[in-house]
Amino acid sequence: MFTTLTAFLCLWATLLPALSTAKQSPIHPVGNSAETIDLENDPVSPAIRAHWMRRAISALSELSSPCPFAAFGAVIVNHTASEEGELVCIGANAVMKDGNPTLHGEVAAINNCTRILTDPAGKYKLSGADALKAFSALSLYTTAEACPMCSSAILYGAFRDYIYSTPIHGPNSLLAHGWPQIDLPSKEIFARSLGRDVRTRIVPEVLANETEGLFVWQFGDGACPAGCVKEDDERGWCVEGGGRQVASGKKVSPGREL
Ligand SMILES: [Zn+2]
Repeated sequence: MFTTLTAFLCLWATLLPALSTAKQSPIHPVGNSAETIDLENDPVSPAIRAHWMRRAISALSELSSPCPFAAFGAVIVNHTASEEGELVCIGANAVMKDGNPTLHGEVAAINNCTRILTDPAGKYKLSGADALKAFSALSLYTTAEACPMCSSAILYGAFRDYIYSTPIHGPNSLLAHGWPQIDLPSKEIFARSLGRDVRTRIVPEVLANETEGLFVWQFGDGACPAGCVKEDDERGWCVEGGGRQVASGKKVSPGREL
């Protein structure tokens, strides 16, 4: 027991310098069954959660556009050095862009983080094995509740926290706005995991009032997100440009609530 614990602490001692600033706080020791983790009470403030969710929204503009059809953006953050957190990487759905059906926002972010964590010329310079371990100290934010594929990826990464915005179910959900879904909520994926000591904290519906607008126009009559207009063709997609516009094409003054 002592040997196992010592080996575990030594492993984290090698990761801490890479993932934390000089002023370190204890990293989340996933896999240490001796520790009790309160998964119900979030130690990070709602304001900080909202900040990083807005960063996940802005990842869409950075990697795609403010109004992509699949507005699924994600960021992966290190909260272990400070509650405020430090950005490690961002991601956005690239299924159509790259022709890869697995590149949902969450998986795209994980792929980007792996590249950054293992870059021999980068900040972290981790081995593959250490990068894999490092995910258990990181927090993944995503603009919508993860599908079963992404929920499984989050589970396999053993992330410290998984924070999502627009839910799959409910009155203002992906399903309510017509998005096709596999009806298997991420909470259930986590609950059905066998043989794993799941320590991921799930923080639901952070800033859902702000992300909902990203998902209302694709299968319904919702307005385009800010900074986007309806394309003037039979597709009628929202594209970058102009002021804010309602689905009928009637322009409204900037800043007016729709
Ligand atoms: Zn997904």
